Amino acid sequence: MNGQRRAGEDLRCPHCGKDSFLVKKNIMDGWKVAGAGLFCSSCSAKISDLNTDSGTEQDSKKVSSKSKLAALLGEDGDAPAPKLEVADGEKSFCRDCAHFISHPFLSRCTIHSKNVEPMDDCSSFSDK
Ligand SMILES: [Zn+2]
Repeated sequence: MNGQRRAGEDLRCPHCGKDSFLVKKNIMDGWKVAGAGLFCSSCSAKISDLNTDSGTEQDSKKVSSKSKLAALLGEDGDAPAPKLEVADGEKSFCRDCAHFISHPFLSRCTIHSKNVEPMDDCSSFSDK
């Protein structure tokens, strides 16, 4: 029979031979908590498994790690990326104007026959 050991119990560790005590730690399987064990406080060798002595706690941990897994897989992360929308006609930059002519070194407005900047706006704006 294995008398159930408990965290904090004094221990002569069979691994390192020191007088130490038991420390409870979670046993991880990847990012999931696979269980808990009792480990030597000196050398961290596993002394014994801790099984299902706190079933409800274990269950809630499983649920939360499951939802974390779902989040990692993006199961409920399907929201579309927000669109950048500019309302039509709100901005009338010269670069969008039918009379705007883009040259490599300068831009001209054919209505006013002057040099303009692409981000200028103009009272004579006319959509392309
Ligand atoms: Zn030890």
